[in-house]
Amino acid sequence: MTIFKITLVFASLLLSINVSSHDRYDNLTKTLTIPSLDVGNTSYTNVAIKLKDYELLTIDPTPHVNTTVNLKKITIGDGRIANRPTAGSVWPCQTNFGGGGAFASGAWISNDGTYDLTTKPSVDGSIQWPSELSIQIKNGVRTLSGNRLPSDPTGIFPVGSTDDAFAYDRNPNKIQTSTVQINLPLMPQIASSASCVPFGEIGILVNGGYFFNALDSLGRDAVAHEIQDACDGHPEQSGAYHYHSVSTCLEKQSSRTSHSALMGYALDGFGIFGHYGENGKELTNADLDECHGHTHEIDWDGKRINLYHYHATWEYPYTIGCFRGAPVK
Ligand SMILES: [Zn+2]
Ligand SMILES: [Zn+2]
Repeated sequence: MTIFKITLVFASLLLSINVSSHDRYDNLTKTLTIPSLDVGNTSYTNVAIKLKDYELLTIDPTPHVNTTVNLKKITIGDGRIANRPTAGSVWPCQTNFGGGGAFASGAWISNDGTYDLTTKPSVDGSIQWPSELSIQIKNGVRTLSGNRLPSDPTGIFPVGSTDDAFAYDRNPNKIQTSTVQINLPLMPQIASSASCVPFGEIGILVNGGYFFNALDSLGRDAVAHEIQDACDGHPEQSGAYHYHSVSTCLEKQSSRTSHSALMGYALDGFGIFGHYGENGKELTNADLDECHGHTHEIDWDGKRINLYHYHATWEYPYTIGCFRGAPVK
């Protein structure tokens, strides 16, 4: 594959970006999404760059998630599977693993036990779906009804043979719609004991897409090994589009000065927020409990209340490791 080098001026810095041959732009305008771009000490995710005949037209430097975490060296979560609430682990309900997923790994996986999120390939394409999600509140119940499609764009699935992702993960599934209705408690309670997270959906993001736990069907770190699209999602066998982390297309917060917005709901009714805690502190597993949450005052249905909630992190398990409340199914 031929690699072209494109030089850009971004945030007053000269950058060069390598573009593979299947992203050629002869006589056409194309928007390239760079999953991650480092400018000085700051990493920007999902930077959209519009090019025509190799000439730069526009650059959308909207920094969706601004991080000081080294995205080039994220610890691979393989083996961090627990059978009780354990920080930095997933407590899965099922430990029989087997099935599809990525069949090869590439240079983004390092033999020092880390992976480089900035050079990991992503599935090509940017498809906009007729996403539907309504959230109704009635009699102490929050009802989420939708069609399982996200409002953020997805890649092209099944993965095409000309896609660089094809060399690693030939996801053969097609994104399919389905009617979804989930009834969650409006005021979730901490259960007397935490519980395991199943395979399949463990929550729904406010863009309408599901989130699953951090494991792929082989019980490995799905974010490290599987190839997702530019918004971090992909479909499973039944066509359910899902994320194994909070989509960086959904989290559009660039300043690290305030608590992240609500990104979705876990199936126990607690909210999951983005990467920043109180006063915009970027969170790691060390700031969160065994299930990947903590309690402090948050905005909840228009009120400020002290309530447990989960957070996204750049490190495994990315979303939630166990349920703190009782899941609805
Ligand atoms: Zn998956
Ligand atoms: Zn918080």
